[in-house]
Amino acid sequence: MKLLDGKLVKKEILKRIKKEVEELDRKPGLCVIQVGEDPASCVYVNQKSKMALELGYKFKHIKLDKDVEQEKLEEVIIKLNRDKSIDGILVQMPLPKHLDTKKIQNLIRDDKDVDGLSDINAGRLVHNVDCLMPCTPKGIMDILKHYKIDVEGKNVVIVGRSDLVGKPLASMMINSHATVTLCHSRTKNLEKITKKADILVAAVGKKDIITKDMVKNRVIVVDVGINRVDGKLYGDVDFTNVSTKASYITPVPGGVGQMTVAELGENVLKAYKEHEKNS
Ligand code: NDP
Repeated sequence: MKLLDGKLVKKEILKRIKKEVEELDRKPGLCVIQVGEDPASCVYVNQKSKMALELGYKFKHIKLDKDVEQEKLEEVIIKLNRDKSIDGILVQMPLPKHLDTKKIQNLIRDDKDVDGLSDINAGRLVHNVDCLMPCTPKGIMDILKHYKIDVEGKNVVIVGRSDLVGKPLASMMINSHATVTLCHSRTKNLEKITKKADILVAAVGKKDIITKDMVKNRVIVVDVGINRVDGKLYGDVDFTNVSTKASYITPVPGGVGQMTVAELGENVLKAYKEHEKNS
């Protein structure tokens, strides 16, 4: 079994971006909007800020009260849409229930939508047109690429169909010529399907939902899940036992999560290049 080391791949990606950024006159700009003080969101925003500063990006962190009105949040985004020094806008999810998440995601200009979650970018991805893609699935594609794992013709089974991970990953895999099965909470005989996977991706959010008897020998396993139990982080895969059968597997932590941050760095640079080209 070989580990798919997200930490290592992230390091390489950031090193390459940093070198490129050093040559630029105007620095790429990222703005993260955070609503409220959710502890997990604080951790994620912190990671993004660290990454942006490490890369030499301009970084702006806008913190809004948890009770902020929809109109106020929209005003902030409209202003950032017009701000030429900001190439990427990211609204940290989840938003409090009283806010219209879909509307907010679609208000961000598609060429600044570095989370790739707007309907426009999601549609472009399905149609295999160049676009800003969601960071986590993009990170999965890139970590597989780094380890020279070709997905063409492979049976890829993805457990979880969220707009953030499962669905965009299915599109990316299809665009790369994999044969894809997308499973979810209503899937019957999950084990029968996962056993057929050459590459199995777990993006559910339930510790140990993937066990040893659900996978075939030599399977490649990508664990997206982040589950906090008694202060410790776990994925969705029973790592200890599944890893005895797998040919490759991502650890948690140190796998997909690391890639997600690196891909945000990539997306900001991509948006920046588009803006420079059109300025
Ligand atoms: P969601 O809650 O949006 O989606 C979970 C998916 O899992 C749904 O499609 C749901 O099905 C499916 N599901 C739930 N229970 C079962 C079950 N028993 N069998 C099969 N499928 C099931 O989660 P996200 O996609 O946002 O995140 C998934 C996990 O990945 C979480 O742990 C999250 O923290 C983590 N994550 C990690 C990231 C990283 O950088 N490493 C980034 C983003 C997320 P249905 O649609 O039918 O409800």
